Amino acid sequence: MREPLFTKRFIGVTVNKFNFSFWKISWIDSGIVLTGISIILGTWIIALLSPTLREGILGVNWWYISIFLLITLHITLTLQTIYLHRSETHRAVKFHPLLTHLFRFWLWLFIGAKRREWVAIHHLHHKYTDTPKDPHSPVINGLFKMLLYGLEVVHEAKKSDSVRTFEIHDYDFLEKNLYEKHAEKGPILLLCLEVLALGIWAVPLWSIQIILVSIITTFYINGMAHTVGYRSYNTNDNSKNICRLGVLGCGEELHNNHHANPASANFSHRKDEFDLGWFYIQKLVALKLASVRKE
Ligand SMILES: [Zn+2]
Ligand SMILES: [Zn+2]
Repeated sequence: MREPLFTKRFIGVTVNKFNFSFWKISWIDSGIVLTGISIILGTWIIALLSPTLREGILGVNWWYISIFLLITLHITLTLQTIYLHRSETHRAVKFHPLLTHLFRFWLWLFIGAKRREWVAIHHLHHKYTDTPKDPHSPVINGLFKMLLYGLEVVHEAKKSDSVRTFEIHDYDFLEKNLYEKHAEKGPILLLCLEVLALGIWAVPLWSIQIILVSIITTFYINGMAHTVGYRSYNTNDNSKNICRLGVLGCGEELHNNHHANPASANFSHRKDEFDLGWFYIQKLVALKLASVRKE
């Protein structure tokens, strides 16, 4: 049986890549590729001929779609930092149980987050920062690899015993039987809902949502925050503050500050630094929906 030219693990799926030599791939591989292209093209042709499939229930308005994309992306990145990172991993802030249920549902729906794995991997990152045991160090892997294979780099760490056996609090029925067991079904449900609302145009929208979250998380935060920027603290790692305004990454830009004080809920340590995540936490504290353990 012919071996694929090279095989690569990508987001948990094994795919056979052909090396720009189409005539060298087997008939089976060619058949799979052509069937895939036919299904995609066929679906688009049918969808473009049918008003319902073309525009969904809400109709297509590119202004609304762009605003929806930006808002959902921002909420996802915000919840990653204030909930998964500052609250679940470092216990610096505690949210009202009603909020944590909303956060968990959102992160399942939009990125299929497995909270247990996320927390375990981030603990490993702090324990072995910028060493070969760090699950996502650009110092070890290179920034370019973090851009192209950031998810794949993190995926390798999930196989370790320390991640597989890691335990979290609130490992309740929902977490065990839905969010973790059926993690990938969250984004699939999101795609179905978006197709219902926007028709076939939801497919590129959904793809952009997934790609942007991945790039900002793996390249911008995990990669650049250990490569580019200034240092306020002489920590035993390569962590950097990318810039003074923590807006796009919702405060994760101030990464050197965070590595110097991991238990602190506030990543801005100077007057000219701004941490949008901390701003939101303060608002939730004022509404009695959060309490800060360590500022
Ligand atoms: Zn770091
Ligand atoms: Zn951290």
